Amino acid sequence: LTDVKNKEEGFWRLSKLSVPVDKDPGKDHLGISEGLLEAIAKVLEFPVATMLPQEAFSIVRKSFDARKLLKEPKFIYTVDMDIKKLLNLEPRTWDFVSRLEPKVGVVEYIPDEKVSGDLINIIDDSRRIGIGIGSNGSPHNTHSGESCKFPKLKKPRVAVVGSGPAGLFAALVLGELGAEVTLIERGQAVEKRGRDIGALVVRRILQSESNLCFGEGGAGTWSDGKLVTRIGRNSNSVQAVMKTLVHFGAPPNILVDGKPHLGTDKLVPLLRNFRQHLQQLGVNLMFGTRLDDLLVENGRVVGVKVSNVNHGLPSTVQKLVYDAVVLAVGHSARDVYEMLLQYNVDLFPKDFAVGLRIEHPQELINNMQYSALATEVRDGRGKVPVADYKVVKYVGEEEIGAAAGSGETTRSCYSFCMCPGGQIVLTSTNPTELCINGMSFSRRASRWANAALVVTVSSKDFEAMQCHGPLAGVEFQREFERRAATMGGGNFVVPAQNVTDFLENKLSDTPLPRSSYRLGVKAANLHELYPTHITQALQHSITMFDKELPGFISKDALLHGVETRTSSPLQIPRNSENYESTSLKGLYPIGEGAGYAGGIVSAAVDGLYAGFAVAKDLNLYEGGI
Ligand code: FAD
Repeated sequence: LTDVKNKEEGFWRLSKLSVPVDKDPGKDHLGISEGLLEAIAKVLEFPVATMLPQEAFSIVRKSFDARKLLKEPKFIYTVDMDIKKLLNLEPRTWDFVSRLEPKVGVVEYIPDEKVSGDLINIIDDSRRIGIGIGSNGSPHNTHSGESCKFPKLKKPRVAVVGSGPAGLFAALVLGELGAEVTLIERGQAVEKRGRDIGALVVRRILQSESNLCFGEGGAGTWSDGKLVTRIGRNSNSVQAVMKTLVHFGAPPNILVDGKPHLGTDKLVPLLRNFRQHLQQLGVNLMFGTRLDDLLVENGRVVGVKVSNVNHGLPSTVQKLVYDAVVLAVGHSARDVYEMLLQYNVDLFPKDFAVGLRIEHPQELINNMQYSALATEVRDGRGKVPVADYKVVKYVGEEEIGAAAGSGETTRSCYSFCMCPGGQIVLTSTNPTELCINGMSFSRRASRWANAALVVTVSSKDFEAMQCHGPLAGVEFQREFERRAATMGGGNFVVPAQNVTDFLENKLSDTPLPRSSYRLGVKAANLHELYPTHITQALQHSITMFDKELPGFISKDALLHGVETRTSSPLQIPRNSENYESTSLKGLYPIGEGAGYAGGIVSAAVDGLYAGFAVAKDLNLYEGGI
């Protein structure tokens, strides 16, 4: 805990303030309600809640807690109390302020307001007053006192390949710091990409270059847009990413919400604004342009070979010269991995997870999580959020039959990328392979709740399937994606099985329970998909999840195959200082595809840091990163 230096200044952070649902204005309200003031007064041991001035408090976090062990579901708040404001507005409160003492996890003194701006303003400030970005992303003074060498006679030229979160944030930082940036994206801008996805869903036409994985905004554009991350929600880098998203049009409540999410309808306009800003910075955007090859001279990347892949237009090839190439291609660009091997770029297989996607009626999940309060959900318009869940279990050798030769003794089985009020979507980039994921709109109003149920896999599993070498994990994924396509019978139809039948290893009767997946489901025995130990791990964990969430095993719950692209199956080693590949100079592998992120926010943060690292390598920036 920070020492209290001057009780008349700074902030006190009050955490774990709980407000019962009937005293809270609801999930969308971010003001200081009477119920919240009561909770604040209780923590401060202040006798009259209504005497506390609302203006002195600001909400840092608001989440909804409906865990069964609680007597009643509650909203849980973290609030900052601005002492100066409090004393100006209500001088009589001085007495209790002088008595305030820190209390671990509940009351914390913060000498200065811990504020980080959005990235654009941080960079703008750093340029104006000569500061750099600290190791945690916060502005700090640099030894030279001058962070950016402006103006430069010749701007360094940088290609950023991939316009997912990693590529966008890297391009933003580099553009802001004065590089001449070209953003190369094989897929289409969101407007055209939306039409291509429409054609996929309605007419079963899969464009191999413009789909749920490829196109402006990357894999997360037609997604649930969950912005939860395991890399430290309160770090300044995450805050800078979140504030930048708000700058481009995301609703400000993502800064406060305990489980922030956007939904596709909010992501698409946000990306348009992001694009406009990049264009204003002078970033050259090349959509429908695929990186096919690198130009390498004397062991250093000096440019790229790209082709125009706009459907309907003749393909043209271009060679473009750059000082640095940032590779932010995501984990579905398998052709890029293969191309990198030709240049002996180190790629190492990495653990990830595979499994199935389970779908329940959303109403069932609401009832399961909220009991009587489920009526308050009202298709996402109600007081409490549409219910979600998160389950994780470790499954040991005894439960999965001596691990069937895989050599693993325990595996973790968990739900992943849960989409309340969402739908299951096709994320294949090739018609012979079938894989799925989930998306939703901001209101999460659909009748379905889907989530991946996955089991960790490692090199031992890849070898057991005769998948070897740097791309072993990719081959492993591909094998199950092909099996799923065959089991579905083609045309992107997904093999599916009722959960109860999956547990009993028998084919489900038709008709199957209804599914949100628009391209059709076909009854299949999903035991024929994965090796026995993976299937058994899934079976066992589902039984355990049902103990935690009674009703999880339901005749209305349908398992869909397959979920294989949970994170990158490999890592491209890079220098931790400048982010350059350890095996090929001039190449900067970043984001999820390079094995440094898993999810929208962590990919964006990796792009942010990479942007500064590359700028530093190019002498555009001298601050710390
Ligand atoms: P990507 O987003 O994959 O971007 C890579 C980009 O590179 C793509 O646009 C691709 O077209 C382009 N590219 C690839 N190869 C080339 C080439 N040769 N030439 C030019 N361009 C190329 N994460 C969350 O945190 N929350 C969620 O709710 C969520 N939901 C998801 C739902 C779906 C349907 C999917 C598919 C993913 C979801 N994810 C979610 C995961 C998230 O999208 C990724 O973790 C994140 O997008 C990774 O960012 P990235 O920039 O590293 O790569």
